[in-house]
Amino acid sequence: MKNLVLLGSTGSIGTQTLEILRAHEGYHALALCADKNVSLIEEQIREFKPEFTVMYNEEAAADLKARISDTNTKVLSGMEGLLTVCTDERADVVLTALVGMIGIRPTIAAIKAKKTIALANKETLVTAGHIIMPLAKEMGVKILPVDSEHSAIFQSMNGENHGEIEKILLTASGGPFRGKSYDELKKMTVEDALKHPNWSMGRKITIDSASMVNKGLEVIEAKWLFDVEPERIQVVIQPQSIIHSMVEYVDGAVMAELGVPDMKLPIQYALFYPNRLTMEDNKVDFFKLKEITFFEPDNNVFKGLPLAYRAIKEGGVMPTVFNAANELAVRDFLNRKIAFTDIYEYIEAAMSEVKNIDNPTVEEILQAEQASYAAIKRKFI
Ligand code: NDP
Repeated sequence: MKNLVLLGSTGSIGTQTLEILRAHEGYHALALCADKNVSLIEEQIREFKPEFTVMYNEEAAADLKARISDTNTKVLSGMEGLLTVCTDERADVVLTALVGMIGIRPTIAAIKAKKTIALANKETLVTAGHIIMPLAKEMGVKILPVDSEHSAIFQSMNGENHGEIEKILLTASGGPFRGKSYDELKKMTVEDALKHPNWSMGRKITIDSASMVNKGLEVIEAKWLFDVEPERIQVVIQPQSIIHSMVEYVDGAVMAELGVPDMKLPIQYALFYPNRLTMEDNKVDFFKLKEITFFEPDNNVFKGLPLAYRAIKEGGVMPTVFNAANELAVRDFLNRKIAFTDIYEYIEAAMSEVKNIDNPTVEEILQAEQASYAAIKRKFI
């Protein structure tokens, strides 16, 4: 039995992870962590009986403590709480499924404590990949991708020689706005953007998918996870989301992982790697599917992707600036303060304003996050 620390248990990835724990033996939930969704985490605690729970939000932690005083689960809060559970000596695997750069410090602490990382929280690698990947290597820690594209790439590299990779073909559905012009994109509402054609995900990543910023974040994530230069990562639109990504080798052979668009598959693969466990009702019916089609991304309309390539080329804190500006923009878009295309305006403005720093420390990354917010406020608010 392995002990799991689940960061973000009340979210889309978190709740699907718990479905897997219900379906298969092999894991005990040592700690369940969230920000403020007290009622859902209370239900989860009563079912999974973890030793710890962390509510990042202090008021939510106090509320939860009162609600579950009849259980044996200890309630912690804030960053201290996350760091405590990620380094607990009983923990074997830390699954990082919280949203945003808040995941950096717990992930680093878990690696230093030699925990296996199942990584969904892509913002952590995007901003601190240059710290996390060498540290994981030094500590002999595995980082297993949970993001479906990266899981597919990982699976397509099984048994292959890294030096023989020609390029990574990172697939994208194109999101709900595929085929739209920039002028049409300007008028898209929150409701339009939240209607993803294939995947059911949390709100932030769904908006990121519509803007293609998510694909940009994934290019940067792939660079760090697989040590492949961005010029050799090509984004391919594949609207059916059946091919989850591919790897092309020097002899022209292309390895791919295919499956229905269901995050439970990559989550389960990361948790039980290298074993494959059964999963019901998730088989592709190729006769019903009939065709798989491919398109080039439209970089003139969906500027999230070219901006991400620029950020990774400039390096240093630029991926952080790209990510932080996007986090603020998505928040403002969801709060109906800005138009959809202003997401790109925010990112461009922050990337032009914030001074780059080579090889930044965690402190400098967090300062660049604040500098990005300040640059946007100066220009737009
Ligand atoms: P959701 O918005 O659905 O869930 C986010 C989770 O993180 C919630 O449990 C939330 O708690 C918790 N959380 C937020 N802030 C904090 C904090 N400061 N401290 C502790 N917990 C916090 O997100 P998703 O599950 O969609 O995404 C999670 C991560 O996985 C993201 O980085 C995303 O990019 C990545 N990912 C998601 C995919 C998906 O299919 N959803 C696919 C691939 C990657 P609360 O409920 O209390 O607010």
